[in-house]
Amino acid sequence: MTMPDSAPSNFIQDLITEDIKTGKYEGRVHTRFPPEPNGYLHIGHAKSICLNFGIAKKFTGLCNLRFDDTNPTKEEVEYVESIREDVRWMGFDWEDRMYFASDYFEQMYQYAVQLIKAGKAYVCDLTADEIRQYRGTLTAPGKESLYRNRSVEESLNLFERMRAGEFPDGSRTLRARIDMSSGNINMRDPVMYRILHAEHHRTGTKWCIYPMYDYAHCISDSIEGITHSICTLEFEDHRPLYDWFLDQLDIYHPRQIEFARLNLSYTIMSKRKFIQLVDGGHVRGWDDPRMPTISGLRRRGYTPEAIRNLCERIGVAKRDSVVDMALLEYCIREDLNKKARRVMAVLKPLKVVIINYPEGTTEELDAINNPEDPGMGMRKVPFSRVLYIEREDFREAPPKQFFRLAPGREVRLRYAYYITCVNVVKDTDGEITELHCTYDPATRGGDSPDGRKVKATLHWVSAAQAVEAEVRLYDYLFLNPDPEEVEEGKDFRFGINPNSLETLTTCKLEPALADATPGERYQFERTGYFCVDTDSSMEKPVFNRIVTLKDTWAKIEKGRKEERS
Ligand code: ATP
Ligand code: MG
Repeated sequence: MTMPDSAPSNFIQDLITEDIKTGKYEGRVHTRFPPEPNGYLHIGHAKSICLNFGIAKKFTGLCNLRFDDTNPTKEEVEYVESIREDVRWMGFDWEDRMYFASDYFEQMYQYAVQLIKAGKAYVCDLTADEIRQYRGTLTAPGKESLYRNRSVEESLNLFERMRAGEFPDGSRTLRARIDMSSGNINMRDPVMYRILHAEHHRTGTKWCIYPMYDYAHCISDSIEGITHSICTLEFEDHRPLYDWFLDQLDIYHPRQIEFARLNLSYTIMSKRKFIQLVDGGHVRGWDDPRMPTISGLRRRGYTPEAIRNLCERIGVAKRDSVVDMALLEYCIREDLNKKARRVMAVLKPLKVVIINYPEGTTEELDAINNPEDPGMGMRKVPFSRVLYIEREDFREAPPKQFFRLAPGREVRLRYAYYITCVNVVKDTDGEITELHCTYDPATRGGDSPDGRKVKATLHWVSAAQAVEAEVRLYDYLFLNPDPEEVEEGKDFRFGINPNSLETLTTCKLEPALADATPGERYQFERTGYFCVDTDSSMEKPVFNRIVTLKDTWAKIEKGRKEERS
């Protein structure tokens, strides 16, 4: 994969540029982001949001937010609200152009009547199963419904009575009268309306017939004066139908353009499946920090800049591919490296007593907030006789490549002093409970005046001033790069990673973090980037690990470059 520094032009922009040149749509550019409010948005939607709003911005056009709310049994107001919040958080603005397909139900109905009158649509009494049987296959043509040639009057009458609520669910449909032998199955008299006695979150019980996606979408685009209707590849085969409806109605005709959807390794990308994760209790909710939903990524600590940057880097193509999760992680590291304040936090603490340090004394040492940005200034970090270091920074019997603390060995405490381990204290089970160390007062600030070298620098926290916190460490939600790849007869849920969440409850943070508020992001030196969770309180701060510091993506890229050369 190539990683351009700025977004190059893509085939969609090229098509639009051409349309502008030829004066199609009078040079206007008007796109829309059309989510169905049947779940929370995910990072795949972010790609569509960036694309649609991005194109509008690039060509000084407009982009609408349109809810494709034609499926009342699956849709909820909660989803509408979350989608609005997520689009706004991503940094985009639909201004006063928030629309609902349901706003156009009456117009769609009138257009349907027009099609019936023109002999282009008919009421069909076949059941859903029969329609499926009649449809044929990729190799066999379909069979015409016996109702296909009923009179216009009869169809008009039945359609009116469908609307009036005279018939039960599923007993009739309105179908387009196209071609049962078409090579494109979507053109074999597709259903335009179905009967569904269900309450709609906006229109209540006003309607008991609802339009199908293919019919509703092109009309909504047309009514809103959309110029370029950008959608994912699976709709490519539906484009002839999109065009057919608009041609038959002879109304304003936007251009549909398809692109490849975003897929990410180690995750699924479908609202329908996320609902199963949420309802099955596999995650804590739509905004669980392990979820690739926009709300989950936000709670985890991702920035809109990092997500937009990912979308820019992956570009827009006509061929499906899977983006490496490591690239998303690369993007957030790159963003937070510039922005996040460095602090010290010990995740799995081991007590250290500096036996030659005076009791009851505290001194304030200078620490740099962000070496990448001197403008972020300095802060004071307290140092005293009792400290915490990471348990894994000490080994009683260090292996060859282990350069951190060990009996008799000297290391640097970041911004503080050189210390040497002189004694290991254990409990009756043989567990190490604390270390006794000496410090060298001449190394204050972390440098030795005699040029003595140490091989490791550890982070630490002074015990007396430490803030106790809970820290949540996350791993991928799925074990396989492709979660759909499971044993036969099982579904994607069998591939869930049982260890995707590790909760640490005895973490020690430097006091600068005492009043961190939800959403704030930090780099904990040496352990990663962290974000204050919404569960956080003054009594018990809670942090999510956004990502570790280890940059697997850079490594992958390096490896690939080496491979190539
Ligand atoms: P899901 O299967 O997750 O429900 P969807 O396509 O049914 O996805 P919609 O609410 O209909 O979800 O999608 C709104 C817009 O976002 C559509 O234009 C759709 O093409 C686009 N979109 C959905 N998923 C992706 C994806 N993974 N990558 C890029 N665009 C996407
Ligand atoms: Mg959909």
